[in-house]
Amino acid sequence: MSTIAPPHIQQLGLVSLAQIRQLLSSQIAAETHWIKDLSDQEFAQEFHRITHAQRFMQRWEADPQFREQVINNPQQAVARYHLDVDPEEIKPLWEPQLLEQLQTAGKLPLLVERCRDFAQAFEQCNDSNLIAASHNRHYTAWRSRQMNRLSSQVPQWLSEDIGHFPVSFELSQGCSIGCWFCSVSAPTLEDIFFYTPENAQLWRKVLELLQEKLGTAAGEGFCYWATDPLDNPDYEKFLCDYHEILGVFPQTTTAQPLKNINRTKSLLKLALEKGNRLNRFSILSLKILDKLHEAFTPEELAFVGLVTQNQEAGIEKASAGRMREYNQRQATKKEQVVDESLPGTNACVSGFLFNMVDRSVKLVSPCPASDRFPNGYQVHDQTTFTTVDELRTFLDKAIETYMPLSLRPGDRVRFRSDLKYEEFEDGFHVSTRFLTLKFRNDPYLKQLGKVILKGDKTVSQITSLFNICGTSTPTTLKALNLMFAQGILAEQPEE
Ligand code: SF4
Repeated sequence: MSTIAPPHIQQLGLVSLAQIRQLLSSQIAAETHWIKDLSDQEFAQEFHRITHAQRFMQRWEADPQFREQVINNPQQAVARYHLDVDPEEIKPLWEPQLLEQLQTAGKLPLLVERCRDFAQAFEQCNDSNLIAASHNRHYTAWRSRQMNRLSSQVPQWLSEDIGHFPVSFELSQGCSIGCWFCSVSAPTLEDIFFYTPENAQLWRKVLELLQEKLGTAAGEGFCYWATDPLDNPDYEKFLCDYHEILGVFPQTTTAQPLKNINRTKSLLKLALEKGNRLNRFSILSLKILDKLHEAFTPEELAFVGLVTQNQEAGIEKASAGRMREYNQRQATKKEQVVDESLPGTNACVSGFLFNMVDRSVKLVSPCPASDRFPNGYQVHDQTTFTTVDELRTFLDKAIETYMPLSLRPGDRVRFRSDLKYEEFEDGFHVSTRFLTLKFRNDPYLKQLGKVILKGDKTVSQITSLFNICGTSTPTTLKALNLMFAQGILAEQPEE
């Protein structure tokens, strides 16, 4: 029997039941029709159970002691943390083997199925289809090449996890949090882009320009990078403009949800009212998790993902930025080499990274961190701008220079330097420890591979050379452009 008061039927957490139903309705797939079919009373009860199961899992992931308590005395564990959920009923959520068994047998408990449906509706927030549907074919082709390249540079799970978002804005200079593991080496907070009339005008013009250049993709950006969004007291005003101009209320990730609880709640409410269901809080310690769970009801955190960065959670951090420096120091101490198998990036932008304080913009894409790119992303080009016209000139030039749809006659063709090359009678392989790509079944591919390996010829020189040997220009171009699209040809910015 539940000891916790049932939810108020009209108000579920921060917004009304009607608003939540509306938010979810756009995501309802055939198998999740239950969301639509339940009466208000039933839906409110189900929402309550789901959010308590969510909270159970947040605690489970962050806190090894809780895990122990659940295994030894599940009822006591949930009572201690005021969780209105039966641990046995949701066991498949915390015991993956059981989940697999019951799923195969088609015997998942209803609550578990509904938690999964809910999580899915919640996860489908960043819409990569909108990015792929950008009217700017040059940008989408370039992004796709960066995705293909990265898929051979990091483990598959990581490459699938990275969103390759088209644009990101820093609305401060530096970050007040100073996490020791910061993968983008955020400096200390120095300055803020306030919502002054002049800044607001520039901001809106920048958004309009991005909409013109990238179309729907521009709406899939966010407003932080090596910054914490809540360092900016005017953050919400910038997001409202973003929503007004680009039609999307950007997702927020913050490490300071407790700094001003009322502000955080208002931001979450605003996000839900504007149709955004995905926000994230970084949890830096168990103490912060305790306080967060005290300050917010499970329903209020229904649409918030927790990134459990606390040490007890044991989540592997990207070995980039300050974390890479830490790993290097540890390796030196132990007289070992740095563990190369660690994921070397969590940078998630393939596109334009702005800092609005110093009015800078960079074209960036993720890559494993290295001495040259210590923060796990490469910078293809960058500039500063004082007017939107200057920014327009830069964007046009960047798109023209770095984002051709196919190779140009004067492009020098060579393989990426991180690829291992192997020759065969009928072609060649290029590989990394994560992926091998095979170009076989035609002896001319062997010759083509050799020429690209040497790397001293342009596209037109290669097509002429192969013409002499009897291979037509379209055939050679087709092969070269296939390699280009696969991201195996060098595009790294010049040193
Ligand atoms: S990880 Fe995020 S919150 Fe922490 S220092 Fe870096 S930018 Fe700031």
